[in-house]
This record gives sequence, structure tokens and C-alpha cells, in this order.
Amino acid sequence: MIFDVLSLFPEMIDNYCSFSILKRAVEAGIITVNTVNPRDFTLDKHKKVDDSPYGGGAGMVLMAQPYVDAYESINQTENCVTVMLSPQGEPLTDSLVNDFAKYDQMILLCGHYEGFDERIREIIKPREISLGDFVLTGGELPALCLIDAVSRKLEGTLGKIESADEDSFSNGLLEYPHYTRPREYRGLAVPEVLLNGNHKDITEFRFQKSLERTKLKRPDLYNKWFDNN
Ligand code: SAM
Repeated sequence: MIFDVLSLFPEMIDNYCSFSILKRAVEAGIITVNTVNPRDFTLDKHKKVDDSPYGGGAGMVLMAQPYVDAYESINQTENCVTVMLSPQGEPLTDSLVNDFAKYDQMILLCGHYEGFDERIREIIKPREISLGDFVLTGGELPALCLIDAVSRKLEGTLGKIESADEDSFSNGLLEYPHYTRPREYRGLAVPEVLLNGNHKDITEFRFQKSLERTKLKRPDLYNKWFDNN
């Protein structure tokens, strides 16, 4: 999977991708993360990428020309999707992440300041994806969330030890609780069933816990799961 990230702050992207599991995925050739800075595509000597909004108002708007030229400089494969990170987009879910993981290339457009000149949307026609109903200062964190979540779905990114098979949402429910050593901490003991080595009992216990906590924490997910099972 190739990720091409259009960002005015490419170091933010490079930095996050040079740690832990993503770093390993890059080194193993499972993902490639390229950054393209629209500032390198400006036509004036001040390298201006933003300007004040027509009609007045606070903040600066990202100019269309550097973004569109930066976007058009990217070699696109046949199986490529372009995503604009935007609070006005479709909220990101595990199901969308699974869909994105089927592409060979994702081009991610990160905004900043007041956001994009509307003509960037009109020309590029990206899918718009939001991290949720709140506003961040820039699209880099949401782009990194997308890169991280999609990369976890690619074969080889997670070792057996970090398997995503039973993660929350994979079967429509939240994952069961985990415990590790010691067996007792501040008077709180690990449930006995996890210590007896009976895999059938352990699977049943985990499934019941998964149902219980989904019903409690996310009744919306529980009802959906219940209707489908
Ligand atoms: N003025 C815009 C609006 O109200 O819709 C918000 C612009 S925001 C300050 C700057 C950039 O941060 C956006 O262009 C987008 O790339 C990114 N951003 C902010 N919140 C986001 C969210 N919830 N999901 C995805 N991207 C977000």
C-alpha cells in the first residue's frame, strides 16, 4: 500500500511513521509513506499557500493552485483512492478502514487553517473522511489515524502477537477484557476461568464479557449485532 500525503507539515507524518509497528511495516515493504508539500508547488517567491477569504471573515484559506498542482504531481496507480481529511466528511469506522485496505494507493489531503478553497474539492473530487464531530487544527492527525488503522489491516503488519482478529468491531462487538501478571493486584484477582487452561470455557467467558460490555458501553453496536445474529 502506498500512502501519498499532501501536507504543509510533512515532518509530522514522517515522524509518526518512524516508530513501532508502522516503522516495521515500512521496513518490511508492506507500506510506503510519501509526503508531498504543496508549498513546493507555489509560483511566487514567498511560497504562499494561503490567503484571506473572499467575503471576509477570520482565518486563512488554502489556495487551490499549490494543492491541485501538488496532487497532480503524484503518480496514481489504477487502484487508488483520494481522501480529503475534513470535519465535514463521513465519520471513519472500522468498516470504512476495511474498504480502504483493499486499495493499492491512498492519496491523503491534509488541510490547515480555515481549510481548503472549495475549488480543490470541485477539481479533485476526493472522498471526505472525518475523525468525528470536532475540529482539529490540521489534517495530519486524522491522516495518520487513517494510515495507522489501514496498515493494521494489511497482511504482515501485525505479528501473531498483535493479531487484529479479535479486536473491537471486527465481529461487531467490543473486545473482552484482558489481564496479565500478577494474578492479584490491589486485591483484584484475575478471573479464575482464565487460569484453568480450559479453552472452551475461556472462549465462552470472553464472548459473554464481550456481549456484556458492548451492551453497557455501546448499546447502538449491541442492538445492531443483536439484530444480525
Ligand atoms: N473551517 C473548517 C470547517 O469548519 O469545516 C475546519 C478547518 S480545520 C481548522 C483545518 C483542517 O483540519 C481541515 O481542513 C481538515 O483537514 C482538518 N480537520 C479538522 N478537524 C477534522 C476532523 N474532525 N476530521 C478530519 N479532519 C479534520
